[in-house]
Parts: sequence; C-alpha cells; structure tokens
Amino acid sequence: MGTDGDRLARRVQAVAPRPTLTPEQSQSAIREGMYARENAERLREHPDDINAFVQLCLRDQYNRRWRQQSFHREWHAMADEIGPGGRLLIGAPREHAKTTQMSVGRTLHMLGRNPNLRIKIVCANDSLARSVLREIRVNIERNQDLRDAYPRLLPDEDAGWAKESLFVKRRTMAKDPSVEAAGVLSTGTGGRADLIIFDDVVDLRNAIQQPALRDQVKRAVYEVWLNLLTPDGMAYYVATVWHEADLTAELAGIGQYPANPVWQKWWRPALNEETGEVLWPGRWSKLALERKKLEIGPRPFARQYQLVPLSEDESVFPERILAVARAKGAQWGPGQIEAPADWPRYIGVDLASAMGRKAAYTVAFVIAVGPDGVRYPLEIVRQRLSFDQTVEVIARLWVQHSPMEVRVENNAYQDALLQHLRAQYPSMPLQGHTTGKQKADEQIGLPGLATGMANGAWVIPSGSPHAADCTCPWCAWEAELRSYPVAEFSDTVMAMWFADSAAGTRGMHPADSFRAYFAEDY
Ligand SMILES: [Zn+2]
Repeated sequence: MGTDGDRLARRVQAVAPRPTLTPEQSQSAIREGMYARENAERLREHPDDINAFVQLCLRDQYNRRWRQQSFHREWHAMADEIGPGGRLLIGAPREHAKTTQMSVGRTLHMLGRNPNLRIKIVCANDSLARSVLREIRVNIERNQDLRDAYPRLLPDEDAGWAKESLFVKRRTMAKDPSVEAAGVLSTGTGGRADLIIFDDVVDLRNAIQQPALRDQVKRAVYEVWLNLLTPDGMAYYVATVWHEADLTAELAGIGQYPANPVWQKWWRPALNEETGEVLWPGRWSKLALERKKLEIGPRPFARQYQLVPLSEDESVFPERILAVARAKGAQWGPGQIEAPADWPRYIGVDLASAMGRKAAYTVAFVIAVGPDGVRYPLEIVRQRLSFDQTVEVIARLWVQHSPMEVRVENNAYQDALLQHLRAQYPSMPLQGHTTGKQKADEQIGLPGLATGMANGAWVIPSGSPHAADCTCPWCAWEAELRSYPVAEFSDTVMAMWFADSAAGTRGMHPADSFRAYFAEDY
C-alpha cells in the first residue's frame, strides 16, 4: 500500500469529474429502479408469481431487467396449472426466449422456493445442455437480485458443482443433483426427477440429417427420460419444429399423428398470417420477420418461425433417392474412388461469404464422368478460405485433376475472383455459373439433379462409413443433401450441382431427360 503511483492515482481520481448522466439516462435509471421495486414487492406478496420473479431477477441481452410478453405469461400460467403429473408442450418460434423462460427462469424460481427439488434439463446434445446449466449456475453464484429474493438458495459445493450437474444447499439427503443437464441421447443418467424440462431436444441432426436418430430420440424420451419422473413429477417440452415425423410432431399431434391428450399444448407461430398479428412486436416486428425471411429463405423461415415442419415430400433428396446412389457406391469409402484416367473430370466451386453470402465455407467438388454418364465424386474440399487461398485451392485441383471445365459460382461479388483466375491461369477452362437470379435456376436445377440421382446417374461412396458425428466434407455433403432445401446451408450441394452442370449433357443424363421428367411430373 501507498506507493507513489497509488497516491497519484487517488489524487487523479479525486479531481477527475464524476461522470454525469444525461437527463434521459437518469430518467431511465429511475424507471428501472421503480420497476425493480414494484416487481420485488409483487414477489414478496405473491411468491408464486414467476413473472414478477423473471422481471426482477433475469436480464435480457441488453442487460435490462426482463419485460415479460403476454405469451411468456401464457406459458407460465399453463405450467402453473398442469399440476402434479402434468405434461406441457410449448411449440414456439426460434429466438422467443424459450430457454430463458422455461429452463432458466422456472428452474431458478422453483429451486428458490423449494431447494429440495430434483430437476433435469434435456437438450439435443450435451454441450447445449451444459450451456443451459452454466446459465443457471452463474445466476445462483453471482446474481444479486436472485440472492436478495432467495437468500437461502446457495450452491452446495461440497455435494458437487460440476459442468453437467449442480447441487444447492437443501434439507434432504437425496443423492440426485438439484439440477442435471444432458443431451437427449446421452447414456448413464439415472436417478429420480420431480421435473424434466425438454428444451429443444429435436435438432437438424437428429431429425433431418440422420433420420435414423428420429426413432432413437423418441425411444430415449419415452423409455428413459419420462421414466425418471416420480408419479407426481411434471414435464415441460419446449420446441421449434423440424420434421413431420419427429418427436415434436408426435407429441403435438400434428400431421400424421393423432391428437395427444396427455400433453397440454401451446402452439403459435411468430406471425399470425390471418390477422397479421405478431407474437412479440417489440423484438420480432413484421418488418424484422420479413427481413429474416429474406435472409434465410422462405422455407427455413416457415419452419423456424411459422412452425411448419419439413415433410418427406418436399425433401429434394429423400432417402429412397440417396439409397440408389449409396448402393452404387458401396464398394468405395469416401474419397477412395479412383476413376480411369480417360474419364473426363469436372469441378464445381461454390464460393463463401467473404463475397457476400452468409455461409462461411468455400466448397470445391471434383467429379469424373463415366462413359455411361454416371458421376463419380473424386474429391471434395470444404474449408474457410481467404481470397488467395481460394485461388490456390482451385489451381491445385486444376493441376491435379485436369478437368474439362472448372465451373465457379459467379455473381457481382465474386467476379473479382474469376477475373483474377483468368488473368493468372489463362489456360484454365473456367466457366462462371451465374446465380444472380439463382433461386429459380436452383429450383429447377436441383430437382433435375435429384432425378438423375434416382435414375442412377450419381455415386455416393458408402463403404466404410464414418462416425455419425463426422463433419468431414463427405459427411457434410450427405447431411446437406438430406436437409436440402430446408436447412440454411447447402454449399456442398451447390458445388456438386455446378460440377454436374459442367458435365452437362454427357452420357445418360441429358437435359432431355429432365424435360421428360418435368413433362411427366409437373
Ligand atoms: Zn466423414
């Protein structure tokens, strides 16, 4: 203590002007203070009022005290009403604070009033579950408003305070953690639960990219998780929609599934298309929703915000089509196809976002075309690349495969790359694939490609398959095929399409067969 530096610092502090608030800032500070007092009072008088609790103790992304929306109040009213043994299902759009309200807010409120509870939080995977648990933990450790509201809600560090579970100080000696969080398919979670919160257990991977997991998720929930509940135990199931045959659809009783009387249901899209009303005007106005729709495309928007699940019919590459290509490729593992040297090669390149699109990957797709027109994929490069790296990769693939054509996606943003390649490699057989009016083009081109695949024009190397969670370019390709056109990203499918278009009418896969297809089916 007391070096010259410290003294100087104190002197400077003493003379430095205090920061002054603008009138608006002090007004808003006063309003926030009143708001906090009102909610604290309300909670003292009505300890079971979770809306007062959330407004007092939780903060939004701007670190302001939470303002409950009417639909949040509806969720909590239903959750309060279902009673012992009850089941509540909430189907709501993305980014409408489902986790904050139902997993974080309700867990803290319930534990604050009854620290003996045993709550399990189940997400699509372990890492999501852990991040929800982390949020709960940080609140118990550091949230002063929570501490003031429930002074006896304290971490029990002796009993355990781990990344997948936490104990709070309680009177009972139960061995189960106060809160435990896990991925829906994770094993080894046992014990008993008074409440299970299923927080978006269905995701892109287990609903669409790997359809076999759909049934595994259902079995895990019916046969494992729900069996952990005590007879009086309650379950909340909170979700956005994915696929018409997944667990959410089944519990909600939509589409092919009969109404499910066990689960009380709250189910509402972001925008009511009949009345034009939006659910959350302050956050998701009509304009904000329109922007989102433009950004991610109408089909992903319909699923994520309007609760319209993907159906098997609208999948451009359904299982039965992929099966044809996989059967043709059973003798090779990914990346193992060696085509005869005299078969022509083609390369398709989908450029990433540095040049305007949101997706971050650049994908180059190399195929060889057999005498019968069948496409054999030889190499897929899928990486985040700078401009210079992109040039390097394309040059390397050109030298290595000597393609008849390198077809590179071309629009206003990407012109620079083509110009650069042309200047640097005048003999490269470059072709720009103009996707300026791409949507129409893509909507005809991709179903055409799928028809080709159904007719045996494509090989997917399916021998020695990779692990289910592999993210290599080959696995990413198959995952994107399955989720096209509903997922937001399809770079690999686009690169494949450019290569396919470059190969054009060679062999058995001519434009004529597409026309015949459309004449028949459309
Ligand atoms: Zn893989």
